[in-house]
Amino acid sequence: MSPSDCGPVVVTGGSRGIGAATVERLAAAGRPVAFSYASSDVAAQTLCERVVQAGGRAVACKADTSDEAAVNELFETCIVRFGPPTGVFINAGITGPACRLTELDPFNLRRVLEVNVVGSFLAAQAAVRAMSETGGGSIVLMSSRAARLGGANEWVHYAASKGAVDSLCVGLAREAGPAGIRVNAVAPGLIDTAIHAAAGRGERLDETVSAVPLGRIGTAGEVASTVAWLLSDESGYVSGTIIDVGGGR
Ligand code: NAP
Repeated sequence: MSPSDCGPVVVTGGSRGIGAATVERLAAAGRPVAFSYASSDVAAQTLCERVVQAGGRAVACKADTSDEAAVNELFETCIVRFGPPTGVFINAGITGPACRLTELDPFNLRRVLEVNVVGSFLAAQAAVRAMSETGGGSIVLMSSRAARLGGANEWVHYAASKGAVDSLCVGLAREAGPAGIRVNAVAPGLIDTAIHAAAGRGERLDETVSAVPLGRIGTAGEVASTVAWLLSDESGYVSGTIIDVGGGR
C-alpha cells in the first residue's frame, strides 16, 4: 500500500446513507476519516462509535457544506487529528421536496443549489488547497444519474445541480491534474437511502425499480466501493471521469 492509499480522507455528508457507508468502508481499510454532517448529532456520533468499535478512526464535524467557514473547519479538523487529506469525497447533497418545475418554491431552489453546487465548489477549493501543499491526492464528487436523465416531474432543479457537479469534475480534473490531483465523480442511480422519503417520495424506489436493467435497487455499499476505488491508487490513471453506478439505467 502506498502512503496515499492509507492517508486521511475527508467526507462531506458522512453521517448517513452513501456517505456513512463510505466512511465505514474507508475506516475498515485503515484510512482515518473526518466527516461532516448538517443536523443529526445522534447519527454522526453513532457512526463514530461503530467505526471505533471496529478498530478504525473517525471524527465527526457539524459543518453545513454551504458555509465556507464550516467547510474550512472540517478540513482543519482532519489536518489536526489525522494529517492532510490524500482523499476527499464531496458527497453532501439534498433534493428538496419533489415537485414539477412550475411548483418549485424559489427558497427550495436556492437551497438545493447552495448545498449541491456551492457546497461542492467550496469543498473542492479546500481539497485542492490542502492537496497542493502535499503533492496531490484524489477527489471524488457526488453526481447523480439524474444529471443526464433530467429529473422530470420530480426535481429538474436537483438534476441541474448535479449537471453543474459534472462540469466541475471535468474542469477541475484539467486544472488540478498538474498538481498531482485526480478528480472524478460517481453518478448513482436508484440507491436505497432515506433521501427519497425526505423528498416526500418514500414510494419512489418501488415505483421505478422496473426501469432498472439489473432489476433491483442499489445499496449504499455498492456506491461506497466505487468511491473507495477512486480514492485509492488502484485508479491511479483515472481522472476527469464520471462513473455511473446505476444498474444499467
Ligand atoms: P442521505 O441518506 O439523505 O444522507 C445525506 C447526508 O448528507 C447526511 O449525512 C446529512 O447529514 C448530510 N447533509 C445533508 N445536507 C448537508 C449539508 N448542508 N452539509 C453537510 N452535510 C449535509 O442521502 P444519500 O442518499 O446518502 O445521498 C448522498 C449523496 O448522494 C447526495 O449528494 C445525493 O444527491 C447523491 N445521490 C443519491 C442517490 C440515491 O438514490 N440515494 C442517487 C444519486 C445521487 P444530516 O443527517 O445531519 O442532515
